[in-house]
Amino acid sequence: MDIKSLQAISDAAIDETNDALREINLSLHNNPELMYEEHHAHKILTDLLEARGFDVERGAFDIPTAFKATYPPRDGAVSGRTASINLEYDALKDIGHACGHNLIATAGLAAALGAAAAIKKGKINGRIIAFGTPAEEGGGGKIKMIRAGAYKDLACNLMVHPMSDRSHNNAYSSTMCGSELNIEYIGKPAHAMAAPWDGVNAMDAVTILHTAVGLLRQQIMPSDRIRGVILSTGEQSAVIPERARARYCVRSASLARYRVLKQKFVNCLEAAALATGCELRTSWLPAYWDIRTNDPLADRYVHHVQRTDETSVFRSVLEQKYDRDCYSTDQGNVTYVLPSIHPTFVIHSPEGSVHTREFTAAAATDDAHRRTVAQGKAMAAVALEVLVDDAFAAEVKAQYDAMDLSAADDPFVQ
Ligand SMILES: [Zn+2]
Ligand SMILES: [Zn+2]
Repeated sequence: MDIKSLQAISDAAIDETNDALREINLSLHNNPELMYEEHHAHKILTDLLEARGFDVERGAFDIPTAFKATYPPRDGAVSGRTASINLEYDALKDIGHACGHNLIATAGLAAALGAAAAIKKGKINGRIIAFGTPAEEGGGGKIKMIRAGAYKDLACNLMVHPMSDRSHNNAYSSTMCGSELNIEYIGKPAHAMAAPWDGVNAMDAVTILHTAVGLLRQQIMPSDRIRGVILSTGEQSAVIPERARARYCVRSASLARYRVLKQKFVNCLEAAALATGCELRTSWLPAYWDIRTNDPLADRYVHHVQRTDETSVFRSVLEQKYDRDCYSTDQGNVTYVLPSIHPTFVIHSPEGSVHTREFTAAAATDDAHRRTVAQGKAMAAVALEVLVDDAFAAEVKAQYDAMDLSAADDPFVQ
């Protein structure tokens, strides 16, 4: 069966299931759950995928709210390629689905169901996997899944992310590589007037850190970011502060550049400890790497979005590529592991961008749902091309193989 017929089957299957998709979308939106607590989302998504014939592994990769849903189920006869799709569904504290992950899950679900229908009717020798990927908002769910081997031996991974119309449709979206850390300096208390020479001042250490980073900003690149807050120092003016705590984040345009910036920041951390005599304790969260878009996948994605939603407008490829977003996502890490994309698509949210209450409201509208379903159809179509078109699959793999991924081998940037 030719690719156009397969896409028609997929599109029709998604249209037929639109009522269920809308119900799931709103149910996710009305029940926002924080990272690693997405039990409702996990249940309704896996129940539907199972009812539609997928082989569903709940609580996959030792993460209670992750899943892996495969079509066709338990078919050892499949020797062809496997395409995969990521579904995010975690929300934000107090402001609900302000990042629109209900739409990401809906688009991914639509894509998985559409591709499965075409695999079945078209008797395709290939598989589609829908991954439930929890805890994007700070928990690094996909990083745990990568470490558990989730993405091994797959031909591609696809997902989309909504943005407000202050932003743009961007199939080649690029993000920052960064991490966050908790810092504690531990000194020694003393009477601040009677015997200050007996004390080791932890507040001084965090003051030196904040000052050193401020000066360092003169010598870093425009695309570098170091931001931080001092959480606590002391409470009594007559006591040399024993403990001081701070939280910082460090971000750069690429993993390779992040390695350089992180070392400069670590030097500031250690300099403050050395100057004051404090002990330094740090705990780094797993780094979210920058997105390395696979161009052939992105090219086809643009083609199919324009086919499924004539209101979608894209700028030139060059403009899309060089318009770097300053957010970070654990989908970036996935793009280092296999050929992947993370296109952003605009929903109508004139009053607020992502992570605002206004965007939460926009993520529930019928118009956002319509645009989301169009992304799902496009992802299904790209996945089907990867499964049935050997030349295209080879092109996708060749671009991935040509990338310099050496920075990813450095444990310092993990
Ligand atoms: Zn977010
Ligand atoms: Zn998000």
